[in-house]
Amino acid sequence: MSAPAAGIRPRVGISACLLGEAVRYDGGHKRDGYLVDSLGAHVEWVPVCPEAELGLGTPRPPIRLEQDGDDVRLCVIATGEDLTGPMARWAADRGAELSEQDLAGFVLKSRSPSCGLGDAPVSDAEGAEVDLRSGAFAHDLSVSWPTLPLASEMTLRDPEQRACFLARVFAFARLDGARGPAAVRAHHERHRLLVASHALDAVSTLDDLADGDDVYAYADGFRTALQQLPARDDHARALRFACMRAGEQLTTAAREQVATVLEAFTVGSASLATAVDVVRDILPDAHPRDAYLRPVEPVWDAYEAL
Ligand code: SF4
Repeated sequence: MSAPAAGIRPRVGISACLLGEAVRYDGGHKRDGYLVDSLGAHVEWVPVCPEAELGLGTPRPPIRLEQDGDDVRLCVIATGEDLTGPMARWAADRGAELSEQDLAGFVLKSRSPSCGLGDAPVSDAEGAEVDLRSGAFAHDLSVSWPTLPLASEMTLRDPEQRACFLARVFAFARLDGARGPAAVRAHHERHRLLVASHALDAVSTLDDLADGDDVYAYADGFRTALQQLPARDDHARALRFACMRAGEQLTTAAREQVATVLEAFTVGSASLATAVDVVRDILPDAHPRDAYLRPVEPVWDAYEAL
């Protein structure tokens, strides 16, 4: 079963080579079938190639991250030309442009000296790998836009990471579309269980913020609460929390059914989709478009694999 799409198509930045654009240093690409053929039906991609857009040309001499004392520099391997400053200036300008485009997330190419997300090799002067860190553009993006959901094509192969990233992307896109206190309150009601799955402690604070008129404080709190990657225990706690709201209305049989499926989910013998299905069935009064119990299709697909 998959939930119906919510009619929203978030704008998501992406390393252009993952879409099949021939922008790599060797004139090739790294087309990712899942991103193009599957997820591409649900989001609007905004392609970015830092190296091509910096004017390095395609094809171009390969570059790498090099350790330089306490610093890490972006250098052309063959000539040693230092591109650290030019890339930082370009990234600042491009980041400002992108912030005008209401991006709800960014998918970055793994292990690239420009786009890698925590997994780009850092070399010493002889070319031996001495560390891993984020590529120059990915690093600047994460610093200048700390609550923007970031993932690589590799991390999205993990259902836990994929469910978390995509749930945040769709939630943030809906938040961007929520204008005014009433719309924010409706957004909160729809996403309350999603918050509970990421940060149960933040729910009551966000309840209060959603009841007030400071929509910016709510938006900040919401984006921050969703930064944490939920573990299986966190999902189980959120589903128990959902059932607590029904309180006395739940029959003993329903309580036992929930306890059984959550135990199975916690030890990995039932998927999150199975657990959510059970909880949803016993909570007919739950928000009809609850973002956690009735997620969009790509999130549900991750639930089924989780
Ligand atoms: S990894 Fe980044 S810089 Fe390299 S080709 Fe892909 S988009 Fe361009």
